[in-house]
Amino acid sequence: MNVSVALFTADLRLHDHPGLRAAAEARRTVPLFVRDRGVTDAGFAAPNRLAFLADCLRDLDAGLRERGGRLVIRSGDVVDEVCKVAAETDADEVHMAADVSDYARRREQRLRRALEAEGRRLHVHDTVTTAVAPGAVTPASSDHFAVFTPYFRHWSGQHLRAPLTAPRTVCVPEGVGSEELPSRTSIVGLSPGLATGGEAEGRKLLNRWLRNGITEYENLHDTLAADATSHLSPHLHFGTLSPVELAHRARQLDGPGAEAFVRQLAWRDFHRQVLAARPSAATADYRTKHDRWRSARTAREDIAAWQEGRTGYPLIDAAMRQLRHEGWMHNRGRLLTASFLAKTLYVDWRIGARHFLDLLVDGDVANNQLNWQWMAGTGTDSRPNRVLNPVTQAKRYDPDGAYVRRWVPELARVEGPLVHEPWKLRGLDRAALGDYPDPIVELADGLARFRRGRAGG
Ligand SMILES: Cc1cc2nc3c(=O)[nH]c(=O)nc-3n(C[C@H](O)[C@H](O)[C@H](O)COP(=O)(O)OP(=O)(O)OC[C@H]3O[C@@H](n4cnc5c(N)ncnc54)[C@H](O)[C@@H]3O)c2cc1C
Repeated sequence: MNVSVALFTADLRLHDHPGLRAAAEARRTVPLFVRDRGVTDAGFAAPNRLAFLADCLRDLDAGLRERGGRLVIRSGDVVDEVCKVAAETDADEVHMAADVSDYARRREQRLRRALEAEGRRLHVHDTVTTAVAPGAVTPASSDHFAVFTPYFRHWSGQHLRAPLTAPRTVCVPEGVGSEELPSRTSIVGLSPGLATGGEAEGRKLLNRWLRNGITEYENLHDTLAADATSHLSPHLHFGTLSPVELAHRARQLDGPGAEAFVRQLAWRDFHRQVLAARPSAATADYRTKHDRWRSARTAREDIAAWQEGRTGYPLIDAAMRQLRHEGWMHNRGRLLTASFLAKTLYVDWRIGARHFLDLLVDGDVANNQLNWQWMAGTGTDSRPNRVLNPVTQAKRYDPDGAYVRRWVPELARVEGPLVHEPWKLRGLDRAALGDYPDPIVELADGLARFRRGRAGG
């Protein structure tokens, strides 16, 4: 074999990359990334993710250069650009990772047809972006699992392939043109506390996490102020880290923290196998409850208050402000803010999911849309009508109020548990809150509206 193309998509790494390793067996390899016009046209190119992506591409290029290669960058329609590069270099084959969204799968089919028409082959590799491939485990009666617990049992019994080392050398054919590497400095509208992207950064974070964080994960992962989760989600989203390698390395450590962490990786695969089997779940209810949601028009002020972190419920506001500041939010915050929007405010979950996708650096169709549906009760939750109370949850998961005080400066001086119920403050203490709002809705009223709306469907 003479020339192959390694097409990178959501797998921007050199370590444990079956597609890259296979492509690097050719005499010459073109490591290619196409800035996909389709992703921009679909409104998915949020500034925070574009910046993280720019870091990832720079780091990937640096890693390839250490191995004698470089990254080739093009922009446009992925199928057109890959075909052009394959024609320019007379490549025999193209390697890419399997993906689950409707868009990614249609893109893959178009690419396969276009390459085959020119006598070239497309190889699609599983277990690059998931630990267990969607469809590798299925129940007897369906093409996917709709309930996590039995899925996890089967997932845990799967043999995981051994992680691969990075290729030692990558030899790129001469004369292949590339656009300049993008840089985050030219991107406007970034969250000020946005994380840095790239495989080197991801591996540093991972090593630190396995050394220092994971043992306490089971005890602390829900405690908001402890901030004791891995923060690896953007690296998993962009594929700068491999889920197979993560599962292997965590399992080697053993113990309840490692087990709980591996379980979360299974949740990620779970949502991917749901989306692969039901691509419409990205936008349509997975299990409709015939809700008559409030819309962007009928709930305009409530939606704005939620987005701005000005609902008057401190924990909700803290989490929404963390999202804006970091482009990331703690999982407990995501659950609470989603429950608050979809249930307490009874606003269409798609409006919340869209806002998350506009800001989240790990914003991911499978994880975001299906977690939103889980919390809205239209997804795979076996208790679809559960409503999380933002005050009792705050007292449980932010018992000292440290998380709220960190993100809501208006409440920084409120001592004790009243930080979660500032409307109970009186006199000067109340006046000291400045323009921090009163609750935009009574929880009991919100609950009654949700129950009426859902029952009336
Ligand atoms: C409404 C809502 C929206 C969400 N949107 C996204 C999203 O767009 N992208 C995203 O990656 N995650 C999303 N999640 C899942 C979860 O909140 C994040 O993965 C997690 O908070 C990331 O932080 P971490 O890396 O420190 O997680 P850790 O707790 O350290 O977990 C390790 C990894 O497991 C995976 N994981 C953890 N929890 C979940 C879960 N509930 N579902 C699926 N995978 C999980 C993630 O890849 C995560 O990086 C969402 C959850 C909710 C409730």
